[in-house]
Amino acid sequence: MSWRRLTLALSLGAVALLSCAPAPPRSVVLIVVDTLRADHLGLYRHDRETSPVLDALGREAVVFDNAFATSPWTLPSFGSLFTGRPPAEHLAGWPAPRTDDAPEGRNFLPLRAGMPTLAETLLAADRDTAAIMNNAFLHPDFGVARGFQTYDHIGGNRKRIRRADEVVDRALEWLGKDGRGDFLLVVHFFDPHLNYDAPEPFRGRFAPTEMSDEERSSMMELRPLRKRVRAKEDVDWDFLIGAYDEEIAFVDQQLGRLWEGLEESGRLADSVVILTADHGEEFGDHGGFEHGHTLYNELVRIPLVVWGPGMRPGRRAEPVSLIDIFPTVVELLGLPALEGLPGRSLAPMLERPSRAGEPRTLIAERTLYGPQRESAIAWPYKVIYEPQRGRTELFNLEDDPLERQNISKLRRRVATDLVARIQAYRVHAESIGPDDAVELDEKTLENLRSLGYIQ
Ligand SMILES: [Zn+2]
Repeated sequence: MSWRRLTLALSLGAVALLSCAPAPPRSVVLIVVDTLRADHLGLYRHDRETSPVLDALGREAVVFDNAFATSPWTLPSFGSLFTGRPPAEHLAGWPAPRTDDAPEGRNFLPLRAGMPTLAETLLAADRDTAAIMNNAFLHPDFGVARGFQTYDHIGGNRKRIRRADEVVDRALEWLGKDGRGDFLLVVHFFDPHLNYDAPEPFRGRFAPTEMSDEERSSMMELRPLRKRVRAKEDVDWDFLIGAYDEEIAFVDQQLGRLWEGLEESGRLADSVVILTADHGEEFGDHGGFEHGHTLYNELVRIPLVVWGPGMRPGRRAEPVSLIDIFPTVVELLGLPALEGLPGRSLAPMLERPSRAGEPRTLIAERTLYGPQRESAIAWPYKVIYEPQRGRTELFNLEDDPLERQNISKLRRRVATDLVARIQAYRVHAESIGPDDAVELDEKTLENLRSLGYIQ
């Protein structure tokens, strides 16, 4: 074969290859379901039908079996989702130094100023950016609105939230606006958060009851319930879990509506869609209730499901974190890679199951109540460390995914090594320097009080 013919054959081959490879996605839909623990979805083998829509859609998706939040409550986890960094680096939700005019409860830091966010990055790459948010901890004062042209925020409380159906209405309305360009759309659902009060016909499906709304609400008062759990008094877990699952089933139905709307808009084919959660929920798994207080898997193991062109649907077992989503989106959209992020792009793993990369350590931290806890996962081991008491627990997540057996004494060297990794990471994070605290307005404080988060 002559050189000319060879060159021609090679370039034809290249053209054929190029035409087979799908074009990279242009737009991103990021769905975050507040308080959704992975193991309450059918997709993650829940024994109750909470998620028929998602289970069906999930067959066309890449499903991460071991995805972890960086914190057991909303603000630090969202900070990680939006910056690709653990909480001690982005600081959102970190306790601020106490001062005379900043009483306790107002002492949270916002997202660190100047740290690039997902929305800022996509806005700079000519995407329309919008978020529909429903948690008081996602108030713009916390810095999480940075980079969004539209930040539609209603801070929910125990009695009043914007439900999933209204959230989907708002999302589709924004999507359908004339002249909508390529976009980043963040859709946040608050429904599975307390109170658990799904609308008909979901209400009563898993937790049938004759209770009045008032009685029902009193069953879910956070502080009295926590006290009863601590005192080992009887708690009707079946009712609470059933009512929680009803909320998930309602969100699942509304996810179906969102999906149909995306299909009808004609934007689904060139979008990447990501579904995840900010943290889970505890129902007595380790002697507690709700979230924010520990780093066990019921609070940090979250769903992560990704759909998009060129991906190979199926399960992925590698441990991944919320900090991976920002670099993943950047790579999938073909934008320049970000320097110095601790997260890892999952794009190669989305295309091919075997491309997992080097083993690494995943950090979770910043508990909202009780003793501070920090954790590190170096698969299959997970350490949970309490710096004040020097208490260490070690679990093998492969043998013991429910974290029943503390093996820190049997595997002392592994435990010591993982604690050392947490300490080294913390030294690194603290070297980044201090930041300014945020002062919250009265309405946000009222919402947070109503949720039981502050006094
Ligand atoms: Zn949350």
